Amino acid sequence: MRSIGWIVWLTVVVASTALAGGEDQYTAERQRMLREIVAMAADTAAETGRAQLDERVIAALARVPRHRFVPAGLTHEAYANRPLPIGYGQTISQPYIVALMTDLLRLKPGERALEIGTGSGYQAAVLAELGVRTYSIEIIEPLARQAAANLKAAGYPQVQLRVGDGYYGWPEAAPFDAIIVTAAASHVPPPLVRQLKAGGRMVIPVGAAFMTQQLLLVEKHPDGRLSTRQILPVRFVPLTGGPSR
Ligand code: SAH
Repeated sequence: MRSIGWIVWLTVVVASTALAGGEDQYTAERQRMLREIVAMAADTAAETGRAQLDERVIAALARVPRHRFVPAGLTHEAYANRPLPIGYGQTISQPYIVALMTDLLRLKPGERALEIGTGSGYQAAVLAELGVRTYSIEIIEPLARQAAANLKAAGYPQVQLRVGDGYYGWPEAAPFDAIIVTAAASHVPPPLVRQLKAGGRMVIPVGAAFMTQQLLLVEKHPDGRLSTRQILPVRFVPLTGGPSR
């Protein structure tokens, strides 16, 4: 009886150590990715106005297991500072762009954020890691299903997901302190502006599909006035849907 108990205990210890080791194998890669992000932020400071990203954003990226959000065959590239294909012609964004867009939103824990373009779920996980109440909409159903599985496996089951056309936002969950659009739009969708709180921030790439777009920071001031600042040229997959469909 006693020896069986001992064997069970030993098995549990060995198994949990192996599991922890499995996660640890990515720690060094994640740190390298973060160093590249910090260096790139410094290099682009003249354009973005952000020489140093918020350390809470860096800390969030240090905790989110990006390897759980890329297709199984690409886990060895999960921490490269570039976009990767996730199927259906879509991509998980470059980590530096994820960091920059998150930084620009100036989020505080407990705030509400809406993401358009769930993709892999990685950006949503970064928002959730910041303690933000996160809602995300994806138009391609199988991607939304995969993102739901990724988020659950990575420990972010609280993220609210919906399949649909994000151009129209999520009126039932509005208003939001922040909106992040992770696909290139031809213009800033008016429904999203309406769903932004006074004092809210939106980041969105705007420009022609399959070309370079401008990453915009749109702010709704406490008096309701809008201001827009161009941050950086970027390349995103197109936002589909919207009224022209
Ligand atoms: N943020 C994602 C990457 C997004 S790639 C991540 O962290 O992995 C852009 C995504 O936007 C794609 O998955 C695409 O299917 C989705 N998309 C495009 N148009 C959309 C729309 N109108 N509404 C919701 N999602 C849309």
